[in-house]
Amino acid sequence: MHPTLHPRLLNSPFEDPCLYIQFLFENYSILFDLGDITRLPSRDILKISHIFVSHTHMDHFLGFDRVLRLCLGRDKILYLYGPAGFLKNVEGKLSGYSWNLVTHYNKSLILNVTEIHHHQMITRSYDCKNRFIPMEPSIEKPFQIDVAHRPGWTVSAAVLDHGIPCLAFSIAEKFHINIKKDGIEALGLTVGPWITAFKQAILSEKDSDAIFRIDDHRQPGTSVGYPLGELCRNIASITPGQKITYITDVAYNDVNAEKIVNIARNSDQLFIEAAFMEIHRDLAAQKYHLTACQAGTLAAMARAKHFTIFHHSPRYIGQEALLNAEAHQACHNWITCNP
Ligand SMILES: [Zn+2]
Repeated sequence: MHPTLHPRLLNSPFEDPCLYIQFLFENYSILFDLGDITRLPSRDILKISHIFVSHTHMDHFLGFDRVLRLCLGRDKILYLYGPAGFLKNVEGKLSGYSWNLVTHYNKSLILNVTEIHHHQMITRSYDCKNRFIPMEPSIEKPFQIDVAHRPGWTVSAAVLDHGIPCLAFSIAEKFHINIKKDGIEALGLTVGPWITAFKQAILSEKDSDAIFRIDDHRQPGTSVGYPLGELCRNIASITPGQKITYITDVAYNDVNAEKIVNIARNSDQLFIEAAFMEIHRDLAAQKYHLTACQAGTLAAMARAKHFTIFHHSPRYIGQEALLNAEAHQACHNWITCNP
């Protein structure tokens, strides 16, 4: 199986946390947290469709200006999600500049911003051509765990406590479509761009009797049609999708732990902060962060298949291996006691 979601941390674990997720065969990507993104090439920034910000401490939000600068003057809707106070933070950033010239732009950048509270979500849009003045009215909805989705995936969120509200995020692929090359050959077809359209048709749950047409390479200018369900049985197998979870800047307490385990359960890959070592547990608690031991234990409790720790305090520069060893030992210990 070729994974659909390709996550990568943009910076070292001692620098700003940002997790960039590229989708296989898609021309868009998403970003968890928006700290220093100077290492991300402009072409990759321009692909971003959704940005999920855990909270607006500087190291998680200072990349906003770079995204805005690059996207200005383009036709694009950029979806941003953040915790309580996020609308005010975005508006503060936008009001830091003068926008007298943008009304003449041919192309329109629209920011669609959602603030996620415990019980409510508030969405407001800002159009560049209207000098980013908030469009009225804002849309208010009750909180729902799935905060964003496209036909192939869903992002869920949980509100955690970091002294201030801080969001955990998890992206889950709806299911994974594996293409069987021998099935394609048996039908006398060849691989082509139609595969992407075929996957989109499956993901958007089109009627299985609907006829899906494929250009016939044997007779250029003609096409062959198959009922979608029949084609799917012949050339594809459906397997569970990937799940990737991102947890950062969170105090270790029972309420947070329960929420983290719930949102991260059975993740294929869990990215979880480990700011401190267990010997500095009290300091971690004072600063509303996890220790490596706590991160490893939570990864085990969530039954994550793989986990990566990041966002280490600079006091441990040169001791990354110790942090990793502590986290993986804690994970191993918990699983040994809870097989
Ligand atoms: Zn923070």
